[in-house]
Amino acid sequence: MIALIYISIVIATVVAMEFVAWFAHKYLMHGILWSWHEDHHKPHYDKEGFWEKNDLFFLVFAIPSATCYIVGLNSPYVFLLFVGIGISIYGLIYFLIHDVYIHRRFKWFRQLDNKYSRAILRAHGTHHAVTTKDDCESFGLLAVDAKYYLSRKEMKAGEQDTSK
Ligand SMILES: [Zn+2]
Ligand SMILES: [Zn+2]
Repeated sequence: MIALIYISIVIATVVAMEFVAWFAHKYLMHGILWSWHEDHHKPHYDKEGFWEKNDLFFLVFAIPSATCYIVGLNSPYVFLLFVGIGISIYGLIYFLIHDVYIHRRFKWFRQLDNKYSRAILRAHGTHHAVTTKDDCESFGLLAVDAKYYLSRKEMKAGEQDTSK
């Protein structure tokens, strides 16, 4: 029974992290911390080397998860350990989808070809279509607006419908 509760905490944390990541991206990275995120919105040919300043956010997000591990292992609040595991799992998913699959920083795998992977790609592509702090859309990664599931053709048709 207790194992089930811990597994639920891990899953709930992973889901909640998508919201946390969306919030941080929209209000911090495109807010007061834009100077760290800016280079991630620059075209690839403007970049030098492998690292982006934007990668500092991996360290930032490691702080709450490390804190959860330390407190969870050293206090009666054992559930925090599973919150920490959830944050780590989300971080790993984020890295694999955002950095490996979308931005191809490592050539580990190239093609995921299904409706969901294409929707993620499109939504994040729309986010990167703007290279400035303001006017961006789709700040989440895994929770994708329904419109990105449509093919380009269907999207165009939809736009024409609304303009009528
Ligand atoms: Zn951004
Ligand atoms: Zn990106």
